[in-house]
Amino acid sequence: MKTEEKIICNCCRKVIAERNAIPMADYLHVEKEWGYFSNKDGQKQEFDLCEDCCDAWIKSLQIPAASQEVTEFV
Ligand SMILES: [Zn+2]
Repeated sequence: MKTEEKIICNCCRKVIAERNAIPMADYLHVEKEWGYFSNKDGQKQEFDLCEDCCDAWIKSLQIPAASQEVTEFV
């Protein structure tokens, strides 16, 4: 969740990053615009999860998330 000053984890409400500060942690940002074949046509949803909550969420998936090593650092 983005507020004026902070990025906050939507799951545990932890402050992930403060405005104008270098983020001290990486996090998951999700933006989804639902389309015609959904019940949410035209709705945009957006949320942020800290790494811990993202890990917990992924663990709850029936099929594990695809994962690979990325050697290129951006
Ligand atoms: Zn969290």
